[in-house]
Amino acid sequence: MNLELSEEQRAARRLARDFVEREVAPYAAEWDRAENVDRAIVGKLGAVGFLGLTIDEEYGGSGGDHLAYCLVTEELGRGDSSVRGIVSVSLGLVAKTVAAWGSEEQKRSWLPRLTTGEALGCFGLTEPGTGSDAGSLTTRAVRDGDAYVVNGSKMFITNGTWADVVLLFARTGGAPGHRGISAFLVPADSPGLTRRTIHGKLGLRGQATAELVLQDVRVPAGAMLGPEGKGFSVAMSALAKGRMSVAAGCVGIAQAALDAAVGHAAAREQFGSPIASYQLVQELISDIAVDVDAARLLTWRVADLVDRGRDFATAASQAKLFASEAAVRAANNALQVFGGYGYIDEYPVGKLLRDARVMTLYEGTSQIQKLIIGRALTGVSAF
Ligand code: FAD
Repeated sequence: MNLELSEEQRAARRLARDFVEREVAPYAAEWDRAENVDRAIVGKLGAVGFLGLTIDEEYGGSGGDHLAYCLVTEELGRGDSSVRGIVSVSLGLVAKTVAAWGSEEQKRSWLPRLTTGEALGCFGLTEPGTGSDAGSLTTRAVRDGDAYVVNGSKMFITNGTWADVVLLFARTGGAPGHRGISAFLVPADSPGLTRRTIHGKLGLRGQATAELVLQDVRVPAGAMLGPEGKGFSVAMSALAKGRMSVAAGCVGIAQAALDAAVGHAAAREQFGSPIASYQLVQELISDIAVDVDAARLLTWRVADLVDRGRDFATAASQAKLFASEAAVRAANNALQVFGGYGYIDEYPVGKLLRDARVMTLYEGTSQIQKLIIGRALTGVSAF
């Protein structure tokens, strides 16, 4: 694996850094307090090409490889995880899945809009009764002529109230478990689809996370993504790549924690000296630094495997598991360096800790990542 970045990759990172400094960082605390990112950010992310990374230019994408995608995602995560999540879901989970599984008509219909930010996507897998055990979902799509009629509900859907299209997973067949699940691209303004924003989240407060209720929603048969009964494979392939994106966002959080801790340790004096001069403070900082590097290298390895067309699913689970736990540790260590100032939202580290916490929960909890890794190593499923 070559650790030297190419000129294109460095340019993508520079572009993302400038974008974050100008359009995200100055507003992140305000959006967090208001529980609302300014919706205009979607058009700006689209205009600069961040919603079309890795997608072919013929479908309106901005091309680029997965390492460039991870570099941009890291910078967005460093600025504001709520903004990073908008991209990780609309591009990472929805547009890329349409590109991988969609018919020519589906690609032409959705990708140019998703990659420019004219439309936003959300990923509807989790339900009130099924989280980790997603293969047991109960939302049902019943064939009726040239359409399906969908009934059920979805929980914790990122971008849920903002989205124009829902990548929805529903049970179409009588087959039990994940074999009876199909994927659909459902326009969010379909009659019978209602959405409710979930307020009061610990972190990612700026993000429009929603509960979706589907009552007799008619979806044309042509909206099915991938073959009937293969919806679980569609979801799992999306999540494997999604975990790389979550890991990259976690590297961004940990890097932001490191920058903040180093800055504060140099500026803050106690006992007549900067706290940076005390060994126990240096221990906190060096622990963060090692976590940042280890998480970044695991994440880059996934991008490298994806770009070379190799198997990456287990590596993605390893990166996601390590990077998410590392981000929580890093933000918590940084908070310790800040002392009491870390505990109030005038300073950035408390938000980093709150935003990091969910990373160990979504796209498969840490326990679920361990089961995926354990199954790959032993050949035995412990689910
Ligand atoms: P549960 O599955 O009930 O798990 C509870 C606990 O039990 C966890 O600790 C878990 O690790 C443990 N556990 C469960 N099964 C096992 C087992 N076999 N062995 C060991 N431990 C086990 N979902 C979407 O579909 N789309 C989204 O866009 C999306 N965005 C989200 C945004 C936020 C802010 C949040 C909080 C969640 C989001 N989710 C989304 C849902 C998320 O993926 C689920 O919350 C997650 O998969 C866990 O499911 P659960 O919350 O039902 O927890």
